[in-house]
Amino acid sequence: MLDVAKVDEALKLLASKKRYRFNAYQVAYLSGNEDVNLVYQYLLTREPYVLTRSFEVLCPNDHSTATYSKIEDIPHKWIECRYCTEEFVPDLDRIYIVFDFTPSYLNSISQEKDEKKSFHPVLI
Ligand SMILES: [Zn+2]
Repeated sequence: MLDVAKVDEALKLLASKKRYRFNAYQVAYLSGNEDVNLVYQYLLTREPYVLTRSFEVLCPNDHSTATYSKIEDIPHKWIECRYCTEEFVPDLDRIYIVFDFTPSYLNSISQEKDEKKSFHPVLI
């Protein structure tokens, strides 16, 4: 079973540390969930309000050279790595799936912080 509360906590932690781009492995590690695939499936359910997903294409030398918001947009032709200039055809098995927070989620996180700051308990 996936500990969803811990995953949500990990997401909040990432957002508060301004780590706006991350993958399922990092979230699995941070939340102490060992099953990366389950974490990934859960992250998908947080689209499109909390997270957006994008696809990073890796060159043969493991450079993340281009990012696409849809998997269908990845070209089936030779492209050149912008780091090592090697030419290659993107391979669907060599893609990083990364997540970003949506602006509205980040807004709600920073508002939560402000509310905590301005909260002065009155002790009687
Ligand atoms: Zn490269």
